[in-house]
Amino acid sequence: MKYKRILLKLSGEALMGKNQYGIDPNRLEQYAIEIKKVKDEGVEIAIVIGGGNIFRGVDSERSGIDRVQGDYMGMLATVINAMALQSSLEKHGMYTRLMSGIKMEQVCEPFIKRRAVRHLEKGRIVIFGAGIGNPYFTTDSTASLRAIEMHADVVLKGTRVDGVYTADPEKDPSATRYSVLSFQEAYEKGLSIMDMTAFTLCQENNLPIIVFDMNKPGNLYSIIKGEKTGTLIN
Ligand code: UDP
Repeated sequence: MKYKRILLKLSGEALMGKNQYGIDPNRLEQYAIEIKKVKDEGVEIAIVIGGGNIFRGVDSERSGIDRVQGDYMGMLATVINAMALQSSLEKHGMYTRLMSGIKMEQVCEPFIKRRAVRHLEKGRIVIFGAGIGNPYFTTDSTASLRAIEMHADVVLKGTRVDGVYTADPEKDPSATRYSVLSFQEAYEKGLSIMDMTAFTLCQENNLPIIVFDMNKPGNLYSIIKGEKTGTLIN
């Protein structure tokens, strides 16, 4: 296997499936199956999950909610998703630990770096909930930061699109996909891969990112084997 320890970033929106809101049980099931294939190969897996299917801090001001308050609400939304994912992974026989950036003793452990690493070494899948626990950050930044802390080999950003395109493929049919990109190129071309904080953290710490379509069965597994799937940014 090409990668021994990965950080998988899943967006909250992807969990909605075809729904407009919330969690699609079929999607959850599908993710568990995809993750299990990789786990069975002995890969150490850390997961960061977003909350966009439930609440996003940036949208809060529109509804008259203070931004910082809204960001905390967004972080709590990620914990809801993380708990759902944890349950689904356990149903498929995987050992998991949920670690949160905000203390919530009844449902998860607080994030402690050394402990998280130990869980990974013991073969447990570690899910990071509540982002990094601070407002004005995103779960993409959380993914980059935790990946660096965990010494992950790569950040795998699972999306609905199969990589990074020259333009938005959902709007521009002539858009073509990059298979490899350097951080510098991505920056100069203004390609939106992750928010700047997340992107810069990866760049400065030489942590490669792979953007891929998580909804296509077998994709995650093929990346782990080292096949050219999605777009590699390094
Ligand atoms: N959030 C935050 N700090 C963090 C992580 C997340 O404040 O460290 C909040 C932020 O409001 C964000 C929301 O949680 O909008 C949900 O996360 P995100 O938008 O990254 O989820 P995704 O787009 O991946 O579904």
